[in-house]
Amino acid sequence: GSSGRDPRSLHVVHMTAEMAPIAKVGGLGDVVTGLARACLARGHNVEVMLPFYESLPEDQIEDLHHERDFDCPKGRVWDGQMQHSSLRTSVFGGKIDGIPVLLLRPDWDTCNIFRGGRIYGGSYNELEAYLYFSRACLEFLRISGRQPEVIHAHEWQLSAVPMLYWDVYHAGGLSRPRVMLTIHNMDNSGECRQEEFAYTGIPGEAFATVDKALDERTIGHNPERLCLMKGGIIYSNAVTTVSPTYAREALEGGAAGWLRSTLAKPEVRGKFKGLLNGIDTALWDPATDPLIPAPYTPERLEGKALCKRYLQQGLGLDVNPDKPMIACITRLVPQKGIHLIRHAVYRTAQLGGQFLLLGSGHADGNFRAMAANDFKDSRDVRIMVMYSEQLAHLMYAAADMVLVPSLFEPCGLTQLVAMRYGAIPIVRSTGGLADTVTDVDAGSEDGNGYSFSGMDNASLNTALDRAMQTFKENRDRWTELSQRNMRIDWSWEKSAGSYVDIYNQLSSY
Ligand code: ADP
Repeated sequence: GSSGRDPRSLHVVHMTAEMAPIAKVGGLGDVVTGLARACLARGHNVEVMLPFYESLPEDQIEDLHHERDFDCPKGRVWDGQMQHSSLRTSVFGGKIDGIPVLLLRPDWDTCNIFRGGRIYGGSYNELEAYLYFSRACLEFLRISGRQPEVIHAHEWQLSAVPMLYWDVYHAGGLSRPRVMLTIHNMDNSGECRQEEFAYTGIPGEAFATVDKALDERTIGHNPERLCLMKGGIIYSNAVTTVSPTYAREALEGGAAGWLRSTLAKPEVRGKFKGLLNGIDTALWDPATDPLIPAPYTPERLEGKALCKRYLQQGLGLDVNPDKPMIACITRLVPQKGIHLIRHAVYRTAQLGGQFLLLGSGHADGNFRAMAANDFKDSRDVRIMVMYSEQLAHLMYAAADMVLVPSLFEPCGLTQLVAMRYGAIPIVRSTGGLADTVTDVDAGSEDGNGYSFSGMDNASLNTALDRAMQTFKENRDRWTELSQRNMRIDWSWEKSAGSYVDIYNQLSSY
């Protein structure tokens, strides 16, 4: 209905390296799609600018059509001299999952940027690629005559956008937009040598001061280094990160590393905020999910039992509704608590449960060996080192519990998806996990999972063991909790409102 529409319609252009479902590596992709869809539904004009990676499945892009070509200014430093050039760039329009996109592809006769079989880790230089992409997005806005109210840049990859916008484009014809930066993870802040910045076609010297993008760690021994995220923070009109606790950890703890002093500057403090992510309830809905064998709702949970049975059968596990099934769906990087995941596999097996790990990434050697040696013909443990959207959906639907033992977690989406699918989250209480999971034994009414705080195995046991015990000894309580969790509203509705508030503040100047 029209009740969900905002009084003032804004034009918002996202610039991002990822977008779910077809250009997704992790949560960044989910957030862009979920937020864009929610803002479209509220009556805003939203476009998403994304690299046209060679790996994108073109048959999943609706209305794909060529928009125009242009020459994107570029540069490099050679022998200490800035050399200017340009890169022919093609722009394609279309829709991904119903959301308008603008896909940018450089001329592959002269470069390899964005080529290869996957999104990251191709044979091209990633820093060069995203600096070029940042420039190309702005250049396209300028030549296409777009004047959105808000340019919404994401992560270190697009952090040069606010810098280039205010230093070059604002005076150069793109006068209306204000720029917002969302930081999804401060782990990678985009280190960049001054001369590398020249890939944008603008010399890096312009930004090499402490009040701009100079990387303060390097003062005295390497005055050449810039930090894109610092520049992005300084130059943006608003900066958000993806949960209130992560924002606090950035300001008061170690989450932002040395960027803490940048975020704590009074002029930044006032424009920096943590807004909790939502989940895309169109892509994540057990009542309509085409990727699961039996749909279900909190009122009719039989489908969930069928999904568990289906997965147990399909994976050759012991088919038993009474064995607690724990799923862990994650990128295998240190952030995600790899040693705790390992430990949980053994602990779960020891306690008579089933453990399914779906892990993507390169830090997978140990898991492959573990699968081959310790759980080769196991009827209770499956370790799958791969990325699979299909399996992820099946696992959320089948699982009784979802484990998220992150060492740090800006927001985390898996615990939210878990709840929507009626699985109980077991999490380490940090960042967005602390904002969204309340321990059922902590005495508050809104308990929805199990949490622990230490980084050691014994801490994890305090949560895992309680969950397993409740599942085995009090199934009625378990089912009730599962139904209650499914009804919690984790949709983008609320958070999108907070983003729109910021868009409105920015564009009312
Ligand atoms: P991050 O962005 O750090 O990876 P999030 O919890 O914010 O963590 O988002 C992770 C998203 O990626 C979730 O939608 C999750 O289901 C998905 N995901 C993670 N690993 C895999 C995998 N191996 N296969 C399929 N989906 C995955």
